[in-house]
Amino acid sequence: MKENYLELRSIRKTYGNVIAVNDFSLSVNEGELVSLLGPSGCGKTTLLRSIAGFERVDSGEILVDSKVINDIPPEKRDVAIVFQSYALFPHMTVFENVAFSLMIKGVSKTEQEKVVMPLLQMLRIENLKDRFPRQLSGGQQQRVALARALAKKPKILLLDEPLSALDAKVREEVRVEIRRVQKELGITSIYVTHDQAEALSISDRIVVMNAGVIQQVGTPVEIYRSPKNLFVANFVGVANIFHGYASNGVFDWHGISFKIEDRRVGDFALAVRPELMKISKEPQGINSFKAIVDVSTFLGSFARITLRAFNEMVQVDVPIEEASRYEKGMEVFVSFAESAALLIER
Ligand code: ATP
Repeated sequence: MKENYLELRSIRKTYGNVIAVNDFSLSVNEGELVSLLGPSGCGKTTLLRSIAGFERVDSGEILVDSKVINDIPPEKRDVAIVFQSYALFPHMTVFENVAFSLMIKGVSKTEQEKVVMPLLQMLRIENLKDRFPRQLSGGQQQRVALARALAKKPKILLLDEPLSALDAKVREEVRVEIRRVQKELGITSIYVTHDQAEALSISDRIVVMNAGVIQQVGTPVEIYRSPKNLFVANFVGVANIFHGYASNGVFDWHGISFKIEDRRVGDFALAVRPELMKISKEPQGINSFKAIVDVSTFLGSFARITLRAFNEMVQVDVPIEEASRYEKGMEVFVSFAESAALLIER
């Protein structure tokens, strides 16, 4: 597996006076799946379209396998793209859809079968090969679209919110399938999404973007556990963010001194994940403060208790069987371990 198989060097792309992507640099190793994660309008699609060759960048270089591809037209780039909308040919069967790129190259039917059938098997849709797109579910159509992209044997696979049109259960199935096939084939992939859970579960690495600029690049665990700034923390769902003053391992929040591991000094935000906080009826030593229970929300395998302290919202996750102990208006104590708190620059 080669390092830096796909390289983006200082990419900038503007539309009139809108800067869609600014000074964006990223290296992706061969076989790696990297997600671009960020809110609507942050430039994810623009980057993907630039790699595919549908957009010309204003400046910067795009390299695949050490070759600059900026001036190569899309059809010659060895890059395949899967869209949210499947975009299958309605008058062609599943087999014909997947074989399309081979068909137009004049590859014989026998040779087409050698490429197409293993892909259909790998995606578990070989029994659907003679059906037309209208006879397929959304999840099946997206598998066909993926097989069609892979049949070109591209060097780079681009996935543009491929699960957005599917409903929750199918979404998860297809996500697992995409990841399995991507790993089996070792295909270098860029995956665009605005869904943090999706990015965390499918990626080798995640690039969090805002307004065309990279906020953080890291593995899912790094992004989840150690968000670098408030934007990333908010985007990956850190629900508790306290604003206060830090000084040599003490964080002051509304006159309460929390003990923390970070020894930096200044105005900071302190992030604590809801699953790392505890509720109790009595004070719990250090990092414990009084709060009033507001609501309890059932979230499947756990419950999230929303409380108020100093007129701010605090969220704590508890096991389902404990949720009924906490009623609206009850005064309780919330606490967290020194190691659970992460100091973030404001
Ligand atoms: P979404 O998730 O909504 O697709 P995105 O992160 O993919 O968002 P882009 O579509 O890349 O974002 O858009 C980045 C910025 O560039 C946005 O401000 C958008 O309005 C602008 N933009 C994109 N395409 C064009 C265009 N063809 N003409 C003018 N502005 C554009």
